[in-house]
Amino acid sequence: MYQTFIGLEVHIHLLTRSKVFCGCRSAFGDEPNSNVCPVCMGYPGVMPVLNIEAMRMGCLVARALNCRIPEKTWFERKQYFYPDMPKNYQISQFASPLGQEGWVEVEGGGVKKRVRIRECHLEEDAGKMIHTGTVSLLDYNRAGVSLLEIVTEPDMESGEEAELFVQQLRRAVRYLGVCDGNMEEGSLRADANVSLNLAGQGLGKKVEIKNLNSSRFIRLGLNYEIKRQSAMLDAGRTIVQETRLWNENRDETAPMRTKENAQDYRYFPEPDLPVFTPDEDFLKSVDAGLVELPLPRARRIEADYGLNEEQAFLICEEKALADYYESAVEEAVKLGLEQKDAALRVANRLLTEVKHILSREKIEPARIGELRLSSHRLAELTALVACGKISNKNAKQALEAVFAEDKDPATLIKERGWEQINDPAVISEAVKQVWEAEAETVASARAALEAGNQKKVKSLSAYLVGKTLAATGGRASPEIAGAQVEALLRVDD
Ligand code: ADP
Ligand code: ZN
Ligand code: MG
Repeated sequence: MYQTFIGLEVHIHLLTRSKVFCGCRSAFGDEPNSNVCPVCMGYPGVMPVLNIEAMRMGCLVARALNCRIPEKTWFERKQYFYPDMPKNYQISQFASPLGQEGWVEVEGGGVKKRVRIRECHLEEDAGKMIHTGTVSLLDYNRAGVSLLEIVTEPDMESGEEAELFVQQLRRAVRYLGVCDGNMEEGSLRADANVSLNLAGQGLGKKVEIKNLNSSRFIRLGLNYEIKRQSAMLDAGRTIVQETRLWNENRDETAPMRTKENAQDYRYFPEPDLPVFTPDEDFLKSVDAGLVELPLPRARRIEADYGLNEEQAFLICEEKALADYYESAVEEAVKLGLEQKDAALRVANRLLTEVKHILSREKIEPARIGELRLSSHRLAELTALVACGKISNKNAKQALEAVFAEDKDPATLIKERGWEQINDPAVISEAVKQVWEAEAETVASARAALEAGNQKKVKSLSAYLVGKTLAATGGRASPEIAGAQVEALLRVDD
């Protein structure tokens, strides 16, 4: 009976080498207070200088989110006092942010929705407070780090949709190479705003859940708030506009403070930074960074290669993985496979065996391109299986060996004697041996055949085929061995 409105403010750390208004190193995990200077410490009289790379990355995200980049964009001071902010104001953007009025299509797991982007603005991050016992410590390494804030319109309606939005945004900024998306380290964090109202009555009084550092917490926090607010409305109570925090130990939100309004910040144009006018060259350099984003890429791979949605989404999870996949398919086609056949075979191997190696060896999927089991080698192995040079079973071993020994599949297969046996005479020898060793099974299979017990025939002949393959070290062609076992069961000795 209530309508839910959710809007997100997502902060991402841009992967600039230095901070946004000074030359200090921008890195996570360095010795506290080692990356600071008079500018980011807010000493009187110092002058900020815009890091053009931060502006370029910010505009790139804006473009990827279909935002308009205005003719002029500038910075404002947002005043407030907080111990982690030595200047007592934050340089941010207010009246003309670098990206305006965009939208993004959010899709997956049955959800399909357009979320409008209100704006993207560039600002500086604050330092970090570490509370230990009775004291609070301050690390200013993060003060002044380039931060891009992406603000949506309140277009989402559930915790699940918001989670999906953030996951998709995370993948996109990683594809663009502007943010590592590491939510645990705070490289991507979100404030979630939610209100409920009677259907048709427009937005309700909003509650903001601050500093959510996992997409799961975004979903849980929002769904908790939706329940809490709807119970309050049911009871005829009014919702207070406030900021709350997610308590991950108690799985609930708790009040933090009542929210200030924009006018409380006394925004005014930053006098020490000139207005930025993106010229043609700058916009060209922004567009040079555009890549096919994960969602359209998954849709294309689904359509062109005949994969299902789940496979396509898994492959496009990481740009390096998708690049590896597409290059392996292309190579396999060059080796003579039909495209859809190659696409399916490579997808199956990639999503099972190769991914298994990655997780076992604790190799980030982003580094799949450095694997000794290169996309070329995976393609080669796939082609060898397709043309019957190696059995599927031995292909798994071969794949592991290629990874471990850094050799081409063809070389390895020859060295190990793993070539598939397709010679009927050789396989027939193996079947004969099995016939002698498994006389009892053969007899019961025949009895079952006579009795018309198809199920039993099937399982017993599978057993005999298995024995035949084992007798050849897994090298006999399963198709030929199967046909021979089948035929031999039907003839009397
Ligand atoms: P504030 O001034 O408190 O920062 P904004 O209007 O700038 O609020 O909006 C911040 C975020 O909150 C945006 O993502 C916006 O979509 C969302 N939002 C604003 N009003 C509501 C509301 N009534 N219900 C849900 N979300 C809202
Ligand atoms: Zn500095
Ligand atoms: Mg706001």
